[in-house]
This record gives sequence, structure tokens and C-alpha cells, in this order.
Amino acid sequence: MNTYPRLPLLLTRGEGCRVFDAEGRPYLDFVAGIAVNNLGHCHPDVVSAIQTQAARLMHVSNLYHNDRQIELSRLLAEQAFSGRAFFCNSGAEANEAAIKLARKFSKEHFGPERFEILTMVNSFHGRTLAALSATGQEKYQKGYDPLVPGFSYVPYDDLPALEKAISPRTAAIMLEPILGEGGVRVPKPGYLSGIRKICDEKSLLMILDEVQTGMGRTGRFYAFEWEGIQPDILSLAKGLGGGFPIGAMLATERVARSFVPGSHASTFGGNPLACAAAIAAVTLLARADVLTHCQKMGEYLTERLVGLKRRYPVIQEVRGRGLLIGVELGVPAMPLIERALANGLLLNRTTDRVLRLVPPLIITPDEIDEGIRILEGLLKDGKDG
Ligand code: PLP
Repeated sequence: MNTYPRLPLLLTRGEGCRVFDAEGRPYLDFVAGIAVNNLGHCHPDVVSAIQTQAARLMHVSNLYHNDRQIELSRLLAEQAFSGRAFFCNSGAEANEAAIKLARKFSKEHFGPERFEILTMVNSFHGRTLAALSATGQEKYQKGYDPLVPGFSYVPYDDLPALEKAISPRTAAIMLEPILGEGGVRVPKPGYLSGIRKICDEKSLLMILDEVQTGMGRTGRFYAFEWEGIQPDILSLAKGLGGGFPIGAMLATERVARSFVPGSHASTFGGNPLACAAAIAAVTLLARADVLTHCQKMGEYLTERLVGLKRRYPVIQEVRGRGLLIGVELGVPAMPLIERALANGLLLNRTTDRVLRLVPPLIITPDEIDEGIRILEGLLKDGKDG
């Protein structure tokens, strides 16, 4: 169906930080499937894991155990958040699972009136109806009412407003550690730890949506590690499968206990092929050298963009963390994105005027220089104000 405003580009192949169109023309990819291809396109370890697993066991029902799902759960439990995992197929589904678990846990522990989840203005949690209802952006919700009840939106990065919104009905606070879709907004230091403290004091669940910020994107495996805190529930997808679709909702042992056999399910969730891809991806993305490289490349790309900002006033702000970078322009970003495409560079925007740069974490300084050269050429033309 006609649900995507697509650019006129037909892609047929990818390798590292480049994709190729049907005529074999290369494009430097600063979009990476929107923060999915964190290891670049067709990473040999992920390809080989998928090939081996496809020939061994592709799918079995969750009526049984499968070795790859167990292995992936263990691998995730060794990272900065150790708990139980529910596997699904996308970010929206991971958030659906998070919302359901938070409601079930809160009703069981605090009674039937405690179900409300506070989420953030300008957040993005996915397009299924509950995830959409959690999303604090009217433009995505228009036409789909009645929405799922039980969500209330508060301004992001505003602890006093959040505290004011808490009522006896509040069960959980759900947020992204950095607003991704909402314009790449990094909150002030102390914001996440402040929410953790509020949740502890008021016995609320802290749900972090790391669908976009996780899997090394900010230079730590999870973005919450920068604040030295832990959520109660964590949703993952995007980079988790190295390009293969898989999502996960993780929860602490205590919270996860509210899900019992029959509470929730997904036919494809945790299927051996997806888990094999994710095992290969997580093994690489958790490596200290990969994360350090992401931090360094994030600093380098930011520095180069700040250099452009000094020379081209159309760039109003450069912000972000690691390789999740927003470039706020004084004009709509779309014309620039179209011209970048014509010049062999893939770019993406979030809000109307914010470019979102999310290249693969394995990008090199030379590739960054190449992207900046193309971008500067376009800015020099001055057609974007
Ligand atoms: N949560 C966040 C923070 C996201 O950025 C996205 C997608 O952009 C989602 C959830 C939804 O993920 P999916 O498109 O896999 O359903």
C-alpha cells in the first residue's frame, strides 16, 4: 500500500557503509536502514550465521525450546541489563509487550486502578495501536481514534512536570533515553537518573525504549549506561538482528514474573533464524573496540558538522550522542536530502527541519570525510537558504 513517501531509488545490494542501486551506482549510507545496519550492510559474521542457521533450523514454534533463543537470552543477560527476555519481531511489538507487562505487573501488585503510563511529548514508540497511543505526537495518531486509553503525555526533559503528572493511577514512566524520531533531543545529564529515583520512591516502573538508541548506537551498548542506571523494562529492535528483523522486551526477574505461560505470545518471536542473526550482531556490537570506535566516529562526525555550521548559517544546531546525530536546519530538510541522493549520499530527516545522521557504527574517518564533502558541496550551492 501507499504508506511510504519513498525517494526515487531502487536498491539491490549493500556492503559495509554503501548500498548500490539497480544500475550498480553506489551510495554512501548515512541512514543505515534508520539505525538498523549498525554493523554495516551484509556483515560477514551476520551473513554466515544466517546461512548456517537457515540450513539447520529456520523456524519452530514457541511450543518448544530452541537452542538459538536460549543462547541469545544468555548473551543479552551478560550485557548491562540482566533479566528475562521476550522476543518479537519489531520495535512496536517490543513496546506492546512492555506496555502489557507493565499493566499486568502493576495491577497484580497495586490493584486494578493502577494502569496509566506516562510517556513523553514528541516521543515515538511505533505504529501498532497501543504503541501509537504511547507515542506523544498527534500527527501519527490522527485518524486512528479512539486510541488505547491509559496514556498521558508530559514534556520531555522536565522532571518537575513529570512529578506533577504522577497520580495514584500511574503505573509506569516510559521514554526514550534520547528522543530519536522527535528530533534527536538529548536530555540534560541527571534526567534519566532523576526518573529512576522518582520511580524508586513511588514504586513505579521505568520503561526505556532503546529501539533506536540501543545496540551501541550512542557508543555504549545501551544509552542508559551513560547515566549509570537500569530500567525495569527495556525494549529493543532495529540493530538487534544486524539487519534481520527481531525485537525484544527485557525485564528484571521480579517484573518478568507477571508474565506466565499464556500471558503473551508471538508465532515468529525468537525464531531460530532471527536469533542466530542477533547472536552474531550482539557479539560484535558488545565489543569494547566497536563501541569505542562508535564514540570516536561520533565525535569526529560531530566536529566536522560543527565546522560546517560555522561556515553555513543554514545549519542552526548539531546535537546527539555517539552516531545518533541531529542537524537542525533553518529550512525544510527534504530538498537537501533529494540533492544528496542525486550526489550519492543517503540522508534522512526526523522532523521537517532536522537531518538525522545514523550511519553504520563501523564507518571510517574517510567515509565521514566523503559524506561531509558531498554535504558541503550542496550547502555551497546555497539552494537551501
Ligand atoms: N521505538 C523507537 C524509539 C523507534 O525509533 C521506533 C522506530 O523508529 C520504534 C519504537 C518502532 O519500531 P518498529 O518500526 O520496528 O516497529
